[in-house]
Amino acid sequence: MSCIFCEIANGNIPSNTIYEDDLVRVILDINPLSCGHALVLPKEHSKSFLETDEAMRNHVFEVAQKMANRLVDVLNADGINILANCNEAAGQTVDHFHVHLIPRYKDNPEKDGFSFVENHIEKPDLDALCAALKTE
Ligand code: 5GP
Ligand code: ZN
Repeated sequence: MSCIFCEIANGNIPSNTIYEDDLVRVILDINPLSCGHALVLPKEHSKSFLETDEAMRNHVFEVAQKMANRLVDVLNADGINILANCNEAAGQTVDHFHVHLIPRYKDNPEKDGFSFVENHIEKPDLDALCAALKTE
């Protein structure tokens, strides 16, 4: 099955590339949530952050940090969100691991349309959750 991010990451479909090396390509998002919204795409396919191997995970986040700093510096952003959506329930629409770099601009709706919707749930039993989740 063809994967659009495999094609873009490997240069078979053109993109606005702001960084490339042997393992990854960083492109500008075609439908940006803020000015400079970029995506770090591994050249090798994995479905999401949950499945990607250790070496790729480490490299993607190394590049994410470098490019996040560049976006903030060059674009004079006030902050940046770095996130990976995993699976449809979390908003993943392209099933190829990618990391979003979303520069944030304080009080500037023309450059920044991103927000987290804060609908708080009823507080779960934190002690039970902690016991179930705790690991070494
Ligand atoms: P997801 O929802 O899977 O975490 O994010 C997918 C992102 O990829 C979206 O922000 C969407 O705008 C972007 N996107 C989808 N198709 C293309 C494309 O062909 N080119 C570029 N540059 N971005 C894309
Ligand atoms: Zn792919």
